[in-house]
Amino acid sequence: MAIVVALIACCSTLLGGLIALRVGTHRQVVLGLAAGVMLGVVGFDLLPEALEAAGQEVFGVPAAMLTMVGGFLTLHIIERSLAVHRGQEERFGAHRHGLESVGLLTASGLVGHSFLDGLGIGLGFQASAALGLSVAIAVIAHDFADGFNTFTITTLYGNARSRALVLLALDALAPVAGAVVGTLIVLPPEAIGLYLGYFAGFLLYLATADILPQAHAGTSSRRTLMATVAGAAFMWLVVGLA
Ligand SMILES: [Zn+2]
Repeated sequence: MAIVVALIACCSTLLGGLIALRVGTHRQVVLGLAAGVMLGVVGFDLLPEALEAAGQEVFGVPAAMLTMVGGFLTLHIIERSLAVHRGQEERFGAHRHGLESVGLLTASGLVGHSFLDGLGIGLGFQASAALGLSVAIAVIAHDFADGFNTFTITTLYGNARSRALVLLALDALAPVAGAVVGTLIVLPPEAIGLYLGYFAGFLLYLATADILPQAHAGTSSRRTLMATVAGAAFMWLVVGLA
């Protein structure tokens, strides 16, 4: 089951990459919706589940909340370190020669992230089928943005289209590989809880620091804002029905 839904995530990634070839008009609304869905999964499903599985306190704080903050900070530190290079590029003007590696590094980071997405699906299903499904919804909803970014960032830094397509393919396969690993390794419930907390922080960072700014790049529309609220409400419905 985990692998089947990871295959859907794979298609979503490919679709996003192909959309990157010709920018769709509804992209901002879809990104806004994805951010709302991710927020809903984090707040309504991942964190409650993680707390239940790994709620024992470490120095006054539930362990799952510590890994949540850890997940948020890991992604933040990795992204900002890469952005240091991006800042230098802006200073030196439009010359992008020799910066292909920055594009490749960022895209590889996205591939690693997609692997963790898949791992989250696999381990989510180990916790419960309902959690596995809502993690899968959060992953599928934003994976098209992953594919989009993998393709755009790779080409933006002067890499050939063919190379960008290879990275896009890797990014699409990564969630499937992650789901396979997440299904094969059997972890004690506390360890799964810790990872789900970590993954909650990871998704929260993606939703708020990556996806939402992209959804409002250029112009902020009321439709995009409504899509975000609707995405979160939708996940409440999904969790309530499950
Ligand atoms: Zn992702």
